[in-house]
This record gives sequence, C-alpha cells and structure tokens, in this order.
Amino acid sequence: MFMKREDIEKRILECIEKSKKYKEVGEVASYIPELSNVDKDAFALSIVTTSGDIYNFGESEKIFSVQSISKIFTLIMALKDNTIEEVFSKVGTEPTKYEFNSLIPIEQRAANPFINAGAITTTSMIFGKNKEEKFERVIELIDEMSQGGNFSFMEDIYKSEISTTDRNRAIAYYLKSKNIFDQNADEVLDLYVRICAIGANVETLARFGAVLANEGFDIDSSNLIIPQNIVQMTIAQMASCGMYETSGEYLMKVGIPSKSGVGGGILGVVPNKCGICVYSPRLDKSGNSVVGKNLLKILSADLGLNIFL
Ligand code: GLN
Repeated sequence: MFMKREDIEKRILECIEKSKKYKEVGEVASYIPELSNVDKDAFALSIVTTSGDIYNFGESEKIFSVQSISKIFTLIMALKDNTIEEVFSKVGTEPTKYEFNSLIPIEQRAANPFINAGAITTTSMIFGKNKEEKFERVIELIDEMSQGGNFSFMEDIYKSEISTTDRNRAIAYYLKSKNIFDQNADEVLDLYVRICAIGANVETLARFGAVLANEGFDIDSSNLIIPQNIVQMTIAQMASCGMYETSGEYLMKVGIPSKSGVGGGILGVVPNKCGICVYSPRLDKSGNSVVGKNLLKILSADLGLNIFL
C-alpha cells in the first residue's frame, strides 16, 4: 500500500514514542573503559529503503563505536577473499548459548562468525600485505556499501580495548593453537580490535544494511557490490546468530535479521525493504541495546517488517 512520506514519518515517531519507556533500562558497556564515557541517553534511528528513501531521527549524525556490528564486515570480507568452503571449514554456522566472548563455543572451530572467536577467525582470513592494507580494505567496503557514508576510526576506543582485551587475546591464541590460522595471534587480534573501533552514524550503517536488503545491489546505481550468495549467507547468519545467545528469542519476537554491538547499535536488514539502524547505548545482560531491540520489535509489528509474516 502506498503511503505518503509524512504518514510514514508519523508512524515511525509513534514507534519511537512507544520505545521510550525502555530508555532508562540497562547499563552502558564498561569492560572497554572508553565505551562508558558515552552519553547514556543518546538516541538515533535511521531507516534506508531499497528505493533510496531515508528516514532519520534523533542524533542521526552522531558517530558511535560499531563494535560487533563489524562482524558483518569481516564475514563479508572473508567470504569475498576465500571460498565458502574455506571460510566455513574454519568457522561454524550454529548459534551458541554462551556469551559473545566465551571460549566454550570453540570446539574444532568457533561456533559462528558473529561471536568473538568466529570474528577473530574471519578477521584472519582477510587478504592484504599487512594489517594496514587489510584494515583499509574493510574501510573501502564500508565506503562503497554506504555510498561514501560518515565513518571514522575511533582511536581512543581502539587503545582502550587493546590494552584491556585479555579475553580476546586468549581466544586468538587458543584459535592459533588449534591451527585455525597460522599468522601471529597478536597481529590478528590487533586487526580485530581496530575493526571493532570503527565509528559510524546510524545512516551510514542503515545504508550498508539497505544494500544487503537490496540483494547486494547499490541503491542508486544498481551496480552489484556484493555477490548474492554472500548477501544471503550474511543475512541468514544475522537471523540465527546476530544477537548473541538471545538470537532465537529475538528472531521469534522481532523477526528482523539483526546484528548488535556493545557500542549500543543494532543493524537490521529486511530483505527487499530496508536497512534499519538504531543507536542507544544502554545494554541488556547479553550486550544488546535495550531501546534498540525493543524499538526494532515495535517497528517490525507496526510497519509490517517481520520477515515471517
Ligand atoms: N570489541 C568487542 C569485544 O570483542 C565486541 C563485542 C561486542 O560488540 N559484542 O569484546
């Protein structure tokens, strides 16, 4: 059904209003010390449709730390640079009930690419002469997917995490001990933490999501940016594993393939409709934005975005 822009905006504003009851719930991440310095009450939403319409609300220009949303970038890079078989011989595809930085879901390999162990693995599969070139290639992907969006490297976040990340260091060394990769474990860890420290605003990430929703085609030019099988696998993994150990419940209640990060962002992809990014830094116990997951649930129901309905 065709709706006027102002009517859509009004509907979205009503959804935002409903989500406000959750705005005091949860805690900002503090295990990466620099992340606790954010404005706890910050809020932003961007919806970018596959036909190129953009709906922005709140502090939509604000750059925040993408953290685990970047696990989408590293999975796409690993799948571009290697065969599907190579990637999924080193990382699994199954959800896990353990927290995102657990060592338990590493048996022969990490359970899936959207927990830390899996993303450290996919990071090790990005091609490049050195870590600078590999990082630059990730930046180029974001730039291309977001059509020159607004993003940057958040050095303070990087320094804060790299100096405190004993758990991820343990994961990197454990993976290396299992011959999942043979590079220097500290180098792989460094690149992983750098990629987590990329900052972006909600519109940039929603544009990225819109390309995935658009079967890998650029929204404006219709050029194919990401092969369709990679798009399909990425969205499928977002649906089954994107919200850590609550992925099953979230998929059932919200019905939008999504990926969250402890920076407070959640990126959702509704195939053939839109990319949606919410930012609100207070997190639940699993590390998902409380306002973010609830707003996505409300938007899904009120705007008919549930992929199962
Ligand atoms: N950089 C963070 C970490 O490795 C990412 C975690 C997340 O966003 N869930 O702990």
